[in-house]
Amino acid sequence: MLVDCRVNGRFCAQCCYGTEMVLTLEDIERITAAGYRLEEFAEYRDGFVRLRNVDGHCVFLDPATGRCRIYPVRPLGCRLYPLVYDPVRDEVLVDDLCPRADEVRRAVGDPNRYRYVMRRLLRSALRTAQVYGEALRNTYPSPKE
Ligand code: SF4
Repeated sequence: MLVDCRVNGRFCAQCCYGTEMVLTLEDIERITAAGYRLEEFAEYRDGFVRLRNVDGHCVFLDPATGRCRIYPVRPLGCRLYPLVYDPVRDEVLVDDLCPRADEVRRAVGDPNRYRYVMRRLLRSALRTAQVYGEALRNTYPSPKE
């Protein structure tokens, strides 16, 4: 995590209200392995499995403290925020809602941050491909030895 989410000594949590965060397969595996049931924290909306909101905020947000209750296993999108993908423009943007947006814009040129983001995204894509591959294993003939 390369963004300090504290503002004036308190966790900002603006991005945890009205969340539309899409969950990857890895996210679901990690959060369920931590003891949460899928139906507790996820819902299917607009073609994706997403984090659920309760009382207008993510089910995992503690609104009293602004802390994430699953911080060590939080979804990939939460880790990458304020970098967001805009499917309409097909672009990665920095969300101006985040008070650290300018800081992140400056850091995007930082090779360490770039490597971190790419590693997370590629690992997630690979895991998804693996699950699809296993699901389709019997559909395609295996190469002959
Ligand atoms: S999982 Fe944690 S960081 Fe992500 S939206 Fe929910 S409370 Fe916020």
